[in-house]
Order: sequence, then structure tokens, then C-alpha cells
Amino acid sequence: MGGIAPASPLTEFGTALGLTATALLFLQFLSSGRYESISGQVGVDRTMGFHRIAAFALLGFVVLHPLSYMAETFFIDPAAALDRLWGMLSSNRLRTGFLALVGLMVVVGFATMRSSPFIRYEFWRVSHGTLAILVAGLTLHHVLAVGTYSAEYPLRLVWFIFAFAAAVAIFLVYVVRPWRMWREDWRVDRVTPLSKGVWEIILRGPDATRLRFKGGQFVWMTLSPHRPPFHDHPFSIASAATNLPRLRFVIQEAGDCTSGFGKIEPGTRVAIDGPHGSFVLPAAEAPVVMIAGGVGIAPFLGMLEEAAALGDRRPIRLVYAVHKSNGLASLKRLRELQSELDLIIYCVVEEQNPGSDNLIGPLGRHHISHILDGLQTEKLTALACGPAGMMEIATDALLAAGVPSKSIHYERFDYAAGKGRLDNARRREALFPFLMLAVAMIAFSLR
Ligand SMILES: Cc1cc2nc3c(=O)[nH]c(=O)nc-3n(C[C@H](O)[C@H](O)[C@H](O)COP(=O)(O)OP(=O)(O)OC[C@H]3O[C@@H](n4cnc5c(N)ncnc54)[C@H](O)[C@@H]3O)c2cc1C
Repeated sequence: MGGIAPASPLTEFGTALGLTATALLFLQFLSSGRYESISGQVGVDRTMGFHRIAAFALLGFVVLHPLSYMAETFFIDPAAALDRLWGMLSSNRLRTGFLALVGLMVVVGFATMRSSPFIRYEFWRVSHGTLAILVAGLTLHHVLAVGTYSAEYPLRLVWFIFAFAAAVAIFLVYVVRPWRMWREDWRVDRVTPLSKGVWEIILRGPDATRLRFKGGQFVWMTLSPHRPPFHDHPFSIASAATNLPRLRFVIQEAGDCTSGFGKIEPGTRVAIDGPHGSFVLPAAEAPVVMIAGGVGIAPFLGMLEEAAALGDRRPIRLVYAVHKSNGLASLKRLRELQSELDLIIYCVVEEQNPGSDNLIGPLGRHHISHILDGLQTEKLTALACGPAGMMEIATDALLAAGVPSKSIHYERFDYAAGKGRLDNARRREALFPFLMLAVAMIAFSLR
């Protein structure tokens, strides 16, 4: 737009990499999974999947950015190219760009250690956010200080808009949201053990609560004396909106925060933010197959309670897989719901219980075939929530049985990337925008 004459294709490609990476970096603040307006539309799993893939793409672009500038010299005189690269990395003028590159490597590297048992999740979260803000600041300085195209008014304006959007996103997550979480007076009403290490927690809010949600959605929750935003944890609501102002949760001990849940005193204040997520019953009347593993039963309890409250009569088959039969938390309530719903429950347990009609686990493809028996697989909707390995087995089996991939939905409790066929297909799908970006960058450099 500014009429700058293009340099050589490789130099232009280096610039395109830098510009694209900067735009992606700012976008990462919006795809952090905290904005219901984004993650509610596409699902938290897809949003986090995009965030993860975009981080690696962006890191790749940033690493290639300086290399592309010296590629031409490298083909003629490799030693001179290395000298030039060293000159670039050590130059005062490019210092903020170099620091942003190193910072980004640390942020992405550290992000892969999110589930490491040696790093406290809260520490991880604080450092991930702080480092990302630092890298964004350094990048903004770099593009504005040395960019040829970014010296032009239109692109400067674009960067200010992107930086402003990222700053608003940060302000909403770290200031507005934590404040809003305390707006209503939510307190712990009751804590009851359901099975070993699994608790039912009932919260009570104000009678005129503004919370509205669909069965299966989740809230971010922080228990006093902790404060959001660094101590909030996501938990699925295991009750229906008709039970408001009470909310029910089924929570399994996992680490620092949840292992203290058994000792929570009734009356403890709780900050909540929600609802979030799109893991809900589909609107269509088609049969639904639910596959729950362990505490993954929580969102299904919310969906089933809601279906019962609304008089939903569609056929529902629920597979509830656990290690031991005493881990079948909430089975009593599920049996009660059977009288109000067209619901068949299959418990899959990894132990022999003479006389019980439980199926013998662990959950496998044959269980899924058995459960789908008599259903038109191309018409049903399948929902899965549970440990990663179980969900991969379940979704692979559903695909093999002919359930279309668009009719399979799942929610992961760990935000990690899966390895099943469905995960791989979604990863390939998510790569498409990055391929288009690569094509656009090549077109830009060859113009
Ligand atoms: C959408 C969603 C719904 C969930 N619903 C339930 C539920 O209904 N019942 C239930 O028992 N568990 C649920 N979880 C899992 C629950 O959030 C984690 O087990 C809990 O946050 C662990 O915290 P901790 O401090 O006890 O354990 P930590 O040892 O701190 O964490 C164990 C692992 O949990 C994950 N985790 C920890 N804190 C967070 C966080 N703030 N955000 C995202 N992941 C985190 C990390 O992968 C971490 O490695 C849900 C998770 C998600 C993403």
C-alpha cells in the first residue's frame, strides 16, 4: 500500500515471516481458552488445540525470520552468512527482536511442561502469562523500531490495533474477570464423599443469581482464601439450571487444589466464572451415546439432569467406565434418572464382581460395538469425557463403527493433545489455516 519496492524474494519472505508471526503472537492472547465468545463457539478443546499449534507455527516462523534474510548470502558464502547472522543477533538495533525470539522459545518450551509433576500449575500459569506479555512487548518494539513496512502508517495502525486488542484481553483476564468472579455470593453448602478421592460439592448462590448455563458446561472456580486469576480451576457443573441457586460438582483429587477439597468447611466463599464450554446435549432428537471414564461422568450428570427436567425422551445410552465398582460415583442418582429418561446404563468395571451385570473392563472396541447394537450409527451423536487413553479408544471405536467424525464430541480435562484418529484428523484440519498462511507469505515474497 505504501508503494515500497519489494526486495529479493528471500528477503521479502523473511519479512513476511516476521509480520505473520507478530500477528499470530497477538492472536494468541485471544485464543487462550478464556473467552467464552470464542471457545464457546468452537469448543475449548479446539480453541486450545489452535493455541498449541499456532504457538509452534509462530515459533517456526520466528526462527526462520532471521535465517531467511541471510539465506542468499549463505548459498554464495556460508562463512559470511554466519558472520551476518551473528551481527544481526548481537546488534543493538535488533536487541529487542533477539530477546523476543529467546523469550518465545522459553514460553513455548515451558508450555510443553505444563503437566510436569515438578512444576506447580499456579507457577506455570503466572510465568506463562507474564512471559507472553513480555515477548509481545519486545516484539512490538522490534517491528516498530526496525520494520520497513511497519514504518508505514497503515501497518503501524494495524499493530496498534492488535496490541490494543491483546492488552484488552489481558486486562479482561487478569483484572475484570477476577473482580466479576466475586460479584455474587457463592458459598460451599455441603461436601460429601462419593468414593475414594471423589467428592460431591454443592454450592449455594444468591436466589436471584444471574448464572445461566446448559447441562455439561463448566465454570472456573476459586475457593477462598485463594484468589483468581491464578488459583481458578475448571470444573463441570453436574446439575441442571433448574437446581439453581444450587450447583453440584463431582470432583476427583488430582493435586494441590483438589486434594484439600475433603476438608472444605461449609460456608467457605467461592468465586465462580461461567458458564464456559460447548460440551452440551445436541438440539436434535437423534439418539445419544455418552461415554464417561471416572470423574468424566460430571458433565454427563449435568446433561442428564437437564434432560430429565425438560422431559427429553430421546434414547440415551451411557457407558460409565471405572477401575473398581466402588468408583461408580453417583450411580444411585443415575439409576433414579433412568425412571425419568429413556436411558440405558452400561457400567464397565475392571474387576470381576460375581452376580453383578457390569461389563468387564477396561473399555475396549467390543464394548462400544455392543453398546451401539441396534442404533443407526450414522444418525447418532456420541459424547465422550474421561482419561485421555480411554477417550482415544472410544473415539477410534466409534469411527470404526461408522459414527461420522462430525457427530463425535469430547471434552478433555487436561487440555492436552490426543493421539487418536479423531485427534489426528482435527490436527490436520487445524493445519489448513497455517498452510494458507505459508501460501500467502510465498505469494507476498514473489510479488
Ligand atoms: C473443561 C474442564 C472441566 C473439568 N471438570 C472437572 C470435573 O468436573 N471434576 C474434576 O474432578 N475435574 C475436572 N477437571 C479437571 C480439573 O480442573 C483438574 O483436575 C484440577 O484443576 C487439578 O487441580 P489441582 O491443583 O488439584 O491439581 P494439579 O496437580 O495442580 O493439576 C493436575 C493437572 O490438572 C491440570 N490443571 C490444573 N489446574 C488447572 C487449571 N487451572 N486449568 C486447567 N487445567 C488445570 C493440569 O494439567 C495439571 O497437570 C476439568 C478440567 C477441564 C479442563
